[in-house]
Amino acid sequence: MNTTTDSTAFVIEPPPQAWVPVGHGNGRFPVRRIYCVGRNYAEHAREMGGDDRDPPFFFQKPADAILHSGGVLPYPPLTEELHHEVELVLSLKAGGGGLSADAAANAVFGLAVGIDFTRRDLQAVAKKAGKPWEIGKAFDHSAAIAPLTPLGGEPLPTSGEISLSVNGEVRQQGDLRDMVWGCVEVIQTLSKHYRLAPGDLIYTGTPAGVGPVVRGDRVSANIAELSELSVTIGEPLSD
Ligand code: MN
Repeated sequence: MNTTTDSTAFVIEPPPQAWVPVGHGNGRFPVRRIYCVGRNYAEHAREMGGDDRDPPFFFQKPADAILHSGGVLPYPPLTEELHHEVELVLSLKAGGGGLSADAAANAVFGLAVGIDFTRRDLQAVAKKAGKPWEIGKAFDHSAAIAPLTPLGGEPLPTSGEISLSVNGEVRQQGDLRDMVWGCVEVIQTLSKHYRLAPGDLIYTGTPAGVGPVVRGDRVSANIAELSELSVTIGEPLSD
């Protein structure tokens, strides 16, 4: 057996730090955790068979599920129903537990367009069986995100068009004003469940119109003036 002389040395190469570009060439935002909100637009809650008065809830994706804009999402395994969900993403530069509204607002570093890719068939089976959603949500490359736009003293958005197109055809179109819980409320509520920290991303939920994508599809998503998110659905990984 090999012995190492340095007890603090990693015994294998440390995994790479997940990150998101800031603007175009303005550095990298390191990702700690990815939180997501379920059912935060009334019309989408209804299309998923829920009630628009159901309180939103949270789940997570692993940090290394990040897929950068311009990238290819290899069609994931074990699904025949890969769905798109365009979402406003918040990135945090500060954290804590039980945040006040002011602290929550001041914790935000910047905003980005994201897509919460979902294996809808696996999610449906899990839901029906009362099992965790993880298998439907937390798979590789499932957290697409465009470059971040720093907030730079601007208030958090309370309105703005949010949309997603597949091969140039609009599939989702909504407005941030239709979020059931606004950005500050989402951060505050999440901070009651977890101590938030710099590096956290929060996907804030999707408007109605979710649907399937297939190999070869070009998916583009936009929110108001934020950088566009554009990804392609590719062949499954062979190994
Ligand atoms: Mn979602």
